[in-house]
Amino acid sequence: MTATTLQPNEMTGLITIDAARCKGCDACKKFCPTGAIDGASGAAHSIDQSQCLSCGQCLMACPFGAINENHSALETVIQKLADKNTTVVGIIAPAVRVAIGEEFGLGAGELVTGKLYGAMHRAGFKIFDCNFAADLTIMEEGSEFIHRLHALVKGEDNAGPLPQFTSCCPGWVRYLELRYPSLLPHLSTAKSPQQMAGAVAKTYGANVYDMEPKNIFTVAVMPCTAKKVEASRPEFNSAWQYNKAHGDHAAEYADMDAVLTTREMAQLLRLLDIDLATTDEYRGDSLFSQYTGAGTIFGTTGGVMEAALRTAHKVLTGDEMPRLEFEPVRGLEGVKAASITLYDRALSQNVDIHVAVVHDMGHNIEPVLQEVLAGISPYHFIEVMNCAGGCVNGGGQPIDPSGSSW
Ligand code: SF4
Repeated sequence: MTATTLQPNEMTGLITIDAARCKGCDACKKFCPTGAIDGASGAAHSIDQSQCLSCGQCLMACPFGAINENHSALETVIQKLADKNTTVVGIIAPAVRVAIGEEFGLGAGELVTGKLYGAMHRAGFKIFDCNFAADLTIMEEGSEFIHRLHALVKGEDNAGPLPQFTSCCPGWVRYLELRYPSLLPHLSTAKSPQQMAGAVAKTYGANVYDMEPKNIFTVAVMPCTAKKVEASRPEFNSAWQYNKAHGDHAAEYADMDAVLTTREMAQLLRLLDIDLATTDEYRGDSLFSQYTGAGTIFGTTGGVMEAALRTAHKVLTGDEMPRLEFEPVRGLEGVKAASITLYDRALSQNVDIHVAVVHDMGHNIEPVLQEVLAGISPYHFIEVMNCAGGCVNGGGQPIDPSGSSW
């Protein structure tokens, strides 16, 4: 097993093609959102790392297993679990619990939250459900959206521009950075649930765990390879910044120390002789395993938007949505559009909110962005997820033995 952890600001080189195994079949090219894969049909391919989003969709699509991830924190995590002076916090994304059962012979799509908690508890993790952090994200992102909307209605320019873009998918954020840096102010300033979870675990969590922040090791368990690169970004050290301002003199530490994909978590459990299929369910060990249904639906396309609209409804009208499910943003159309009219108590008037949800970004995002660039976008809020179907189909999920990704 090779075990290298991504270094700060190591933004490229996570996904590479083994030229000796590549047959040049072009299957990967169909799934690359940026066209970063070079090479003629029949010849060995390679990845232009300057354009790679590290989303791993090519890796899922390759029928010959020729595409690799070059970084794994597996050995480091196992060492930390054995270290009695370290509290290892396992932060579990929503899409992992519906996929990891496949690795242990359970049915595809079977929800195994309690068993996964149980298996990770046996391995020595403290359980932190990323759904808890998704709830925090949506409060931040929803409040920011209302702030921007109010500024628009009042004709003020003291808030960010609309449409507001969601910011929780690192593949999408990287795409915008590479291709449309002028649109970056449209991104929500809210961190992704993964990064909020890491920051919370090393600030408020230090009290919950009664442990010095420097001795807390955060491990995100994600359906996504791009999340490894996100965690390595140097700006994500806010827990250290906060703790330093409150008297902590420890050397700099990251909010998220390691990211394991769903596949790697299955590998870790097997290495520790833990069979998820026969493990007793566990309910968690702190408030960090409590969450709402809004946090849960982050794992699928439309979920972030639906959660945001529920928050906007409650904040603007003072009432919960009469029916929580918002069907227009569900389903697998490439671009879904919807409108909702809400009575805004603060403005004493109705406001019309137009939203869009985009997934399978490489095939669907360009026309939407061209409208934004031209200043004619009809939308106030746009959710974008790189992968087709959202994170449930991420590049870190179990690989379909048939070789088809979607
Ligand atoms: Fe990762 Fe989800 Fe974005 Fe895919 S859609 S790149 S799995 S965050």
